[in-house]
Amino acid sequence: MEPIQAIITIERGRIRTVEPIFGGVRIISEAGNHWYPDAWALPGLVDSHAHIFGLGARLRGLSLYDVRSPEECISRAIEHTSTRGGWIVGMGWNQELWSVKSYPTAEMLDSIYSDVPVYLSRADGHAAWVNSYAMKLAGIAATTTNPPGGQILKDKAGNPTGILIDNAMDLVRSLLPPYSTEEQIACLRSAAQECISHGITEVHDMDVSPHLLPHFAMLAERAELPIRVQSYIKAQNNEWINEGVLPAIGEVFRVVGLKFYADGALGSRGAALLESYSDSPKNKGIMLLSEDELYRKAKIGLEYQWDISTHAIGDAANRMVLNVYQRLREEELADESRTLRIEHAQLVHPKDQQRFADLNVVAAMQPVHCISDASMAQQRLGKRCRYAYPWRSLRNSGIAISAGSDFPIESCNPLLGIDAFVRRVPFGWSDPWFEKECITRQEALLAYTHWAHEAAQMGYRRGIIKPKFDADIVIHDNNLTTCTEEEILTTKVKAVYLAGERRFYGE
Ligand SMILES: [Zn+2]
Repeated sequence: MEPIQAIITIERGRIRTVEPIFGGVRIISEAGNHWYPDAWALPGLVDSHAHIFGLGARLRGLSLYDVRSPEECISRAIEHTSTRGGWIVGMGWNQELWSVKSYPTAEMLDSIYSDVPVYLSRADGHAAWVNSYAMKLAGIAATTTNPPGGQILKDKAGNPTGILIDNAMDLVRSLLPPYSTEEQIACLRSAAQECISHGITEVHDMDVSPHLLPHFAMLAERAELPIRVQSYIKAQNNEWINEGVLPAIGEVFRVVGLKFYADGALGSRGAALLESYSDSPKNKGIMLLSEDELYRKAKIGLEYQWDISTHAIGDAANRMVLNVYQRLREEELADESRTLRIEHAQLVHPKDQQRFADLNVVAAMQPVHCISDASMAQQRLGKRCRYAYPWRSLRNSGIAISAGSDFPIESCNPLLGIDAFVRRVPFGWSDPWFEKECITRQEALLAYTHWAHEAAQMGYRRGIIKPKFDADIVIHDNNLTTCTEEEILTTKVKAVYLAGERRFYGE
C-alpha cells in the first residue's frame, strides 16, 4: 500500500478512473472538481475496533484520561458542572500515569461527595472508582461477596476500598441513570465528526448496545453519518437475543457481528494468563466465559449468520478462544464465509500464533495499546513480554492484521497507530520495545485500510484506490511511506471523501 498522486474520477459513489500524475491529487465527481497541490491520497482509514458512543460520551462528558493524580480527578469533577441524573459520571483515569501508582479510594471522593453518588471508570473500562454513597446505594458492604468474574477490592479490615473490577462494576453501573435519546444521538454525531477529521471513513463499532441501533440507522438514512459503521453487538449476556437484533445490511451502516469477552484487561490484572502474574504470584486473571459457554453462544450466533468477535488479551484467553474457533471450523458451523475475530490478541503464546492463520482467524490489534502499556506490561508479564503484542510474529504466520485504536480508551488518531506499528517506541521512552515485532509502513497502511475492510467482509470493494471500489478517500499533505519518521505524526488531513462526497475539509 502506497499513497498516490492521481486524477481520480468518481461516479455514483464508486471510483471510475485513476490516472497517475505528479504534484498532487485531483478529485472529479458529480459534486465538483477539487485540486490538492503537494498532497497524497490513500483509501479512507478504518478503525477496526472502537467504541463510537464512548468517544462521544468522552467528548461531551467528564474526561479523566490525562489527569496525573486522584486530586486532579476530583478537581476536574468539580469543574464539570453537569451531572447525569444527579450522578457524577466520568471515565479515563489510569493510576499507572500517577506518581503514586496505587488505586485511589472511596475516601478520597467522600470528603467532597458525601451525598452525591460518583462513578468513575478506569481508562481500560475494566475497573471503576466509586464513593461510599454510590456503594451504599448499590448495597456494597464488607459482607458483600465478589460476583462471578468480578472483584470488590477490600482493605486489610475487610472494608470495600471503592475499586470494583470487571463484573463487580455492574453492581453500581446498573444504577446509573440512562442518557436521554437526544444526548445519545449527540454523542454519536460528535464521535463521527471527530473520526472523519482524522481521516477515518469506517469504524468497526464494538460491544454496541442494541438501543443505539435505531439512532445509527436514522443518522445513516438522513445522510447525517459522515463515516461508515459496522456494528458488533453486545452478546456476552445474550443482549442481542433479548432485544431481538438480527444482522442488517446497509451501505453506510451495517449490523454484522456479535461481541463476546473471554477475559478482562492487563492493567487491572483481569487478563487470563496461563501462568501467574509476575507482580501478583497467586493470580492468573479472570476468564469471563468458559470454553463451553463461548462455544454455545457463538454457535447460536452463527446459526443467525452473525460474524463472531471475541475480546481476548491474556495467553490463556487467546488459547481458549482459538480452541472454540477450531471446534466451530472443524464442525463446519463456521464455514469460510463467516468471519471469526479475536480482538486485541495482546499475549499469544508462541505455540498458538500459527493457529490464527491455520483457522483463518482475524487478529484485530491496537498498536497504541502496546506503546502506552509497555511499562505496565513488563511488570505484569515479565519475560512473557517477548510474545506480547506480536505483530510481526502473527504477520509471519501468514495473517493480515486489522488495526484499530480502541477509542475512547486511546486517541482515535490513526497516525499514532501507524507510528506505533513502525517504531514501537513506548510513550516517554527513547528506544523501541521488542523492535523485532515492528511491521513496515506499507503493512501498517494495509492494516488500517484493505486488511481492516477484509475483517468485516468488505475487502472486495473497499480499501484500494482503483476502479469499481467505493470512493472512500483520505488526502494527506505527506506521503506516509516516504516521509521521515518524525513527519508521520505531524501529517495533516486535507480532505476526506465518503462514497465520493467530501465530508471533511481541513483548511
Ligand atoms: Zn474495546
